[in-house]
Amino acid sequence: MNIVLLGAAGSGKGTISDFLKSEYGLKHISTGEILRNNIKMKTPLGELAARYINDGNLVPDEVVINMIKEIVSGNNSGYIFDGFPRNLNQAQKLDEICKVDLVLSVEVQRDIILKRLSNRRICPKCNLTISIDDAPNGLCPKCNSQLITRDDDKPESIKKRLEIYEAGANILKDYYKNKLFVIDNSGDLKTTMNSVKNVVGGKKTYDM
Ligand code: AMP
Repeated sequence: MNIVLLGAAGSGKGTISDFLKSEYGLKHISTGEILRNNIKMKTPLGELAARYINDGNLVPDEVVINMIKEIVSGNNSGYIFDGFPRNLNQAQKLDEICKVDLVLSVEVQRDIILKRLSNRRICPKCNLTISIDDAPNGLCPKCNSQLITRDDDKPESIKKRLEIYEAGANILKDYYKNKLFVIDNSGDLKTTMNSVKNVVGGKKTYDM
């Protein structure tokens, strides 16, 4: 089964991906994470991507589509696509690469998203993502490194990223309307995971 996760930055796609990984054994592909790792390793891809990401813009389609092709080629089932596709062209290209079984649109009120993103920190060493509320000393609870704010979680980038997401979201939701389920992630985690389980579990019976 292949699942596409739609959702604005800060909507909780990462948390839902972790759940899907452990519950259903799917592999998680986050295009944003792959690009950030390339930036960290100072690869040519990272150098190119940084020019777009740090300003809150999308990286060119052909770059991310090639990344997905390379990962998926030869084994085209069992993935969670997190942060991909971001627009119609990417969605059409993904259909050429593999069959998308289910699309979850993770939705959260804008004010909650803004708070989550401005509180979000990452560990540059072990990649943990955490709210500063849960690490008030500013240190990673896993490896004790100093937590940092993602460059694209700075206020000017956040606004642009949300605008870009909102501009593309309805087109994608329409494209996927026959396999789309909305997951409300404004409340507590348990309620969200139960909704995910109901949707994916039901689908699993037929398709996996
Ligand atoms: P994310 O971690 O999904 O919020 O992605 C962080 C940033 O990586 C985005 O703001 C884009 O600059 C870039 N990015 C991630 N996925 C894509 C994609 N599918 N298409 C274009 N740019 C992307």
